Amino acid sequence: MDSSKKAGTRHTASGTVDPFVGDPAWAPTPRRVKVRAPGKINAFFRVGPLREDGYHGVASTYLAVSLYEEVAITTKPGTPATDITVSISPESSLDAELLASIPLDASNLAVRAALLVADISENPCGVHIEITKHVPIAGGMGGGSADAAAALVACDSLWHTGLSWEELSQLGSELGADVPFALLGGAAVGLGIGDQLTAALAPTPLHWVLVPADYGLSTPVVYGTLDKLRASSGAEVAEPGEVEAGVLAALRAGDAHALAPWLHNDLQAAAVSLAPGLADVLAQGEGAGALASLVSGSGPTVAFLAVDAAHAEDLAAALTANGHEAWAVEGPVHGAHIVL
Ligand code: ATP
Repeated sequence: MDSSKKAGTRHTASGTVDPFVGDPAWAPTPRRVKVRAPGKINAFFRVGPLREDGYHGVASTYLAVSLYEEVAITTKPGTPATDITVSISPESSLDAELLASIPLDASNLAVRAALLVADISENPCGVHIEITKHVPIAGGMGGGSADAAAALVACDSLWHTGLSWEELSQLGSELGADVPFALLGGAAVGLGIGDQLTAALAPTPLHWVLVPADYGLSTPVVYGTLDKLRASSGAEVAEPGEVEAGVLAALRAGDAHALAPWLHNDLQAAAVSLAPGLADVLAQGEGAGALASLVSGSGPTVAFLAVDAAHAEDLAAALTANGHEAWAVEGPVHGAHIVL
């Protein structure tokens, strides 16, 4: 890394003024940074055949939505940077049993992110990471990736590492294909394994309703199920190519009606075969007037497209009356950013 970047950086990668300029990274009193990072849905998701390296090529349109993880990181002055601890805040809005499934050791994605930044910082110290979870766990919305993105931004600020967006994104891609997008936010096309990002113009937020499940689906299991379904059907699977131009035109126009016919997810059939109840959720949302519906990423969260904010509220109320948890959100929104 360029050594001229190591201290005194005024602007963080998220464009926020660094609150600790002039305050050395080894300051004797604890300092705290809070970062918000959004969950995502994939408005369009095409998956290629299984590659020899175990990955699948994808053509994805990511949208960051207004359901955020909050990650507060506090320095532990005088401790080594290997002293990284993590806890889940009681303010988290998710089911306690699912929250208990989050690893609190070095495999937590936020801890791994902090360790990556520590490795290239001049004066890192130990930190405590507190995660407030709002994005469904193993829900196909990239919640763990959002935590990792938030931790990258927070540690960069606390330790005055001065990383550019590209450098943070490079570190993020070592942690998972969805981490660079949680840093970028907005709308983007993801190629490769989803980590080769190109920002897409989407100036007008669209309105969505999310229906989370009270269980998770493992992303590798969903991909493996897709491979099996394809093998048993004998269908030739093409490389995913590009995202359909109609998706990007509809996003540019901010036109929900134009976007509706383009919503697509190759993983949906696999998610539904693993969790058949999703078919009923998809049908109920469409029956309640959603413009279109799809499983987000590897599921099991379902996303419904609404006409506008009022329609999204009505749709959420109808789904709630049917016994589902349902949240009206909008997207695109900003990527990981410092809020405190
Ligand atoms: P993907 O990004 O693959 O679509 P997802 O959104 O379906 O993932 P996540 O909530 O990101 O799912 O978590 C997937 C798994 O990652 C969890 O089951 C958990 O064991 C592990 N994990 C590690 N760190 C975290 C974290 N900070 N928050 C949530 N899960 C984490």
